[in-house]
This record gives sequence, structure tokens and C-alpha cells, in this order.
Amino acid sequence: MQSITRYLRSLMLLELFRGMAVTWRFGVAPKATLNYPEEKTPKSPRYRGLHALRRYPNGEERCIACKLCEAVCPALAITIESHNREDNTRRTTRYDIDLFKCIYCGFCEESCPVDSIVLTDIGEYHMENKSEKVVDKQQLLAIGDRFEESIAANRAQDARYR
Ligand code: SF4
Ligand code: SF4
Repeated sequence: MQSITRYLRSLMLLELFRGMAVTWRFGVAPKATLNYPEEKTPKSPRYRGLHALRRYPNGEERCIACKLCEAVCPALAITIESHNREDNTRRTTRYDIDLFKCIYCGFCEESCPVDSIVLTDIGEYHMENKSEKVVDKQQLLAIGDRFEESIAANRAQDARYR
């Protein structure tokens, strides 16, 4: 008897209509996805993306080569060498970050006494050669110069929580 009922139900295509009802229901429901990269979700001002070294408005680099960021980095991703300038101020001669070692914890940014090393909200970048995994001082300064406006805006937005 059961098999006859099943056979008759299959003739009425009930499963097909039930399945199509689900398709139509989700077809008109609001979308839960975005068309990335054309559409993007908003980012927190605390987003931890690509690193940058910042300068003061007069062009002087902020970093004073205190090496706190190098000491605090849990992934040993930062390598710094420094020297004393003629005016007896200390500056880095080498500032490398190995992006393959970095875990984007943000400790370097938190430890910096002069707001020099920061993690920007840049999350879309790639390397084409293995050697590009290490970004040097000049590259970090160039990123800082290019995105200073958004870096400063994000930090201002988050300042009351720091
Ligand atoms: S974000 Fe964390 S892991 Fe990456 S360089 Fe800074 S301290 Fe090191
Ligand atoms: S980036 Fe900041 S914490 Fe790191 S060496 Fe320079 S001044 Fe010190």
C-alpha cells in the first residue's frame, strides 16, 4: 500500500514543487552576501592590515629606533639596525618586517612610543616572488606617506579607547 502511495505522489511531482518553493523563497529574500570586490563591508578603525612607518608633518621620520617593537614581536618578524646621527639623535638604518612571519597581532603598534609603526587598513596586497615577503624601511615609509590621511583618521577615531 505504501509503495502505491509513493508512486502516486511521485506522479504529482510534489517533491519538485516543494523544492521550487524553497528556491523561490530564498530568491526573493534579502541577500546575505556582497559582490566582492565591487562591494565591501565597512572596516573597523582598528583593522590590522599592511604595516606602515609614519612621519611627522615636517617630513621627519617618527621612528627613534628604540627597538621596542622588535622586542615585543612574538613572531620575531621585525629586524632593526640603528645608528646615531650627527645631531646625536638615533634613527634606524634598517627596518625590515617579514610579512610571512607576522601574525598581525598589533603588538608592535601598541608598543611604539611615537606612533611610528602602525598597521593600516590595507588588507588587499600580494607578493609575486618569495623575496617580496620582507618589506624594508623605504617601502614602509612609502606606504605611510601614501596612506597617512586614512591612518591619521583611523587613529583619531579610535583615540578615546587608547
Ligand atoms: S603585528 Fe605582531 S607579529 Fe606582526 S610585526 Fe607587529 S608585533 Fe610582530
Ligand atoms: S617603530 Fe616605534 S617602537 Fe619600533 S623602533 Fe621605531 S620608535 Fe621604537
